[in-house]
Formats: sequence, structure tokens, C-alpha cells
Amino acid sequence: MTGSRRVLILGGTAEATTLAGRLVAAGGWAVTTSLAGRTGRPAPVPGALRIGGFGGVEGLTRHLIDEDVALLIDATHPFAAQMAANAAAAATRAGVPRIKLLRPAWHPRPGDDWIDVADTLSAARVLAGLPRGPAFLTIGRKDLAPFAATGRPLVIRSIEDPGPVPTGTIVLAARGPFDIGAETALMHAHGIAVLVTKNAGGEATAAKLAAARALSLPVVMIARPPAPDGPVVTGVDAAIDLAYTLVNNPS
Ligand code: NAP
Repeated sequence: MTGSRRVLILGGTAEATTLAGRLVAAGGWAVTTSLAGRTGRPAPVPGALRIGGFGGVEGLTRHLIDEDVALLIDATHPFAAQMAANAAAAATRAGVPRIKLLRPAWHPRPGDDWIDVADTLSAARVLAGLPRGPAFLTIGRKDLAPFAATGRPLVIRSIEDPGPVPTGTIVLAARGPFDIGAETALMHAHGIAVLVTKNAGGEATAAKLAAARALSLPVVMIARPPAPDGPVVTGVDAAIDLAYTLVNNPS
């Protein structure tokens, strides 16, 4: 790897994996992807892999310096707000250029019935005013508590086991991508009355929105946390272009 520029990709997304593959294939980069370690069996990632938290801003700053990282690419999920903030602060402290790769958000289309909310607490609150029947929660396994308190039947889909859930809750373990036919059939089979989702964006999990549209179901859409200041790109190609610019023309 002599002469290669060290790039640390904060991953946990499909884009991060694609990006790692593209940089490894391009050559000239020593690519390491970092995962939080939340999933038991992570998908294979091209290049080197490290797993587990860094120990806050302090730990990540030390890692960037000790590992001689030339570029940090934060390609974490749009809702991984803590990691994004830590990445921004640590990159500044270590004097390492940083790119935030943030896939575009979803936007409503004709026929959609979205209720936009700021966070999971508000999402649980608005359920009280929506048609009775099971809520389909596709918000991961954290932040489920407010929904348990609604007393509404829940169908939860999550990659990992969400742990204890209210009696009668249906838990579906699945990882995208999902297609419209299967999503529509699933919502129909469970008699879903409302879909609750985070505005993750991306193609892999967008079929549920089309299914809700087809079934005329309301969608409670949880807004993204704001991204930290600094350069943001919305796709892998743009991230690669900016990566070359930043390492070739450090300011
Ligand atoms: P978070 O709340 O923003 O981060 C919490 C802590 O987890 C961070 O402070 C950091 O610990 C550690 N961490 C997070 N991402 C990491 C990474 N890529 N490498 C090493 N440590 C990481 O994060 P989260 O929302 O729990 O997401 C965790 C991971 O799951 C991320 O990789 C994210 O891309 C992925 N993911 C998240 C969601 C979601 O909805 N939030 C959905 C799909 C995938 P230290 O402070 O100790 O460094």
C-alpha cells in the first residue's frame, strides 16, 4: 500500500459499500470502511474493515491522526446524526478533509398522503388522529417505545431483533431491497392502516411508499436530522470526484 492515500469511510449503507468498491478498483487508495457493529452479519465490504465505535470525537480524532488518514468520507445513514457530528468535529481537529455522502431525501408524489413530523415522538403522537388498525413501523429497532404506548397494533420490520415488544406485535426480520408487489401484498395481508417511516431516501426501501400510495394509506414521514456544515454530495460519483479534488488540492 506504499504511496496509497488512506481513506476512512464511515459506512453502514449501500452507498458506502459501493464507494469502497469503486475506490479499491481505482487503485491508489488504501480503503478502510468502519462499521458501528450493530448488525451481526454485515454484508462483505471491499478493502479493509474495522468494526466498533471510536470513543467519541476524541477517539476518532486520535484514529485519524494515528492511522495517517488522508480523507474521511462520512457515508453513514442520514439518521446517524451522532456519528455525522463526531466525524465533522474530529476531521476539523485532526486537520483531515471530510466529505459527507448523503443520499437525497424522498419527496411526496401525486396520490401520496404524507404526514410530515419532526421526530419519532411526534410520529407516535399523530397516530392518535389516524384511521384505526395496525401501524407498519419501518424505523429500525431503536425508538420503538413511544409506539408501544399508543396501544395500536404494531407490525415492526427491522434487520435485527428489536428486543421486547408489546404483546400481539408482529416482528418481521428483513433487509432490503424490497419490491412494490411484495410490499403491497405484505401491507394488505397485515391489514395495515398506516405506514410509519424515517425519510431515509434511496431506492432499496422506497417500494413501501409506492405500496402505501397504491393502497391509499397515510404515511407518517419522520424528517431527517440536519447534516453538519461542510461539503455534502448526494451520490457515489460526486463523492469520488470530490475525493480526488480534496487530496490533490489540499487547502
Ligand atoms: P449514531 O447514533 O449516529 O452513532 C452512535 C455511535 O455509534 C457513534 O457515536 C459511534 O460511536 C458509533 N458509530 C456509528 N456509526 C459508526 C461507524 N460507521 N463506525 C464506527 N462507529 C460508528 O449511529 P446509528 O444511527 O446508531 O447508526 C449506526 C450505524 O448503522 C451507522 O454505520 C449507520 O450508517 C448505520 N445505519 C443507521 C440507520 C439509522 O436509521 N440510524 C439505518 C441504517 C444503517 P463512538 O462515539 O464510540 O465512535
